[in-house]
Amino acid sequence: MPTPPVFGHVGSAQPGDLFASRAELAQRGQHRPLQAGICATQEQGAESIVLSDKYEDDEVHDDYLLYTGHGGRSEETGQQVADQTLTKANKGLVRSQVTGLPVRVFRKVTAPAGSQAFRYEGLFRVVSRDCRPGRSGFLVFLFRLEPIIATVEAPIPARPYAQPGLFDRPAEAAEPTPRYEATVSRLVRDTAVTRQVKALHGYRCQVCGEQLATPGGFYAEAAHIRPLGAPHHGPDTLDNVLCLCPNHHALFDFGSFGIADNYALLGLPGQLRTQANHQPDMGQLAYHRQHIYRPLAASQR
Ligand SMILES: [Zn+2]
Repeated sequence: MPTPPVFGHVGSAQPGDLFASRAELAQRGQHRPLQAGICATQEQGAESIVLSDKYEDDEVHDDYLLYTGHGGRSEETGQQVADQTLTKANKGLVRSQVTGLPVRVFRKVTAPAGSQAFRYEGLFRVVSRDCRPGRSGFLVFLFRLEPIIATVEAPIPARPYAQPGLFDRPAEAAEPTPRYEATVSRLVRDTAVTRQVKALHGYRCQVCGEQLATPGGFYAEAAHIRPLGAPHHGPDTLDNVLCLCPNHHALFDFGSFGIADNYALLGLPGQLRTQANHQPDMGQLAYHRQHIYRPLAASQR
């Protein structure tokens, strides 16, 4: 009988807590596998991950981290030696992106004496993903995780350990820990560009043609074709946005459908509705097809 997953804090653990070993993490139910860096199922998503410094495409920043997916690595060196696929733990992280459930993040840190410990970084959410060649040249999945911190939060204690190499932070960044706003899975932004694209299409979804009436007027969302921010760094420009209903916005962001150069929909029947004065950029559509769109198997529909 498999242990049911726990999403969120386990026991009284708080960000900043240190654990002596992977065995202790497992014993306390914080991160249950003794070796795997991720605890996830395809059906329910990821519960926890452990960041070590051995994966060449991982990045840790103050307000987000990029976590490399599972698979295609040499067991001895951790080097990428083959392409990753959207299976197993990678599917689990995509599931977390869809559900928005929190993921516990632990990080290996090294004491000055050289002994290792694992620091609880807190709860994170998977907000986007990319599939692209990593430093090795092989395809890797990169997941962007952002911290979920309640707006009223006790300061995190100063970090007693410093990790050399990949996770080096400038000394002044060590404290005080910045306070983050809780982040929704898909950002719905209101900018001049997003207002413009909605006006151009009369608030009609460019996929299904629906125009959602509310007591506050019509409602539509602007979807960035190449997403903003790392790892995608798409521009907030009119040729990089579409006017979509919330359903098609979610399906587009999660990669359920793509758009061909002739505006035929891929993964859905039909054609993108266009306007003479709004031309989505071919390069950004190709980027979305390559990095985000993943055709669904018949069993997933
Ligand atoms: Zn729609």
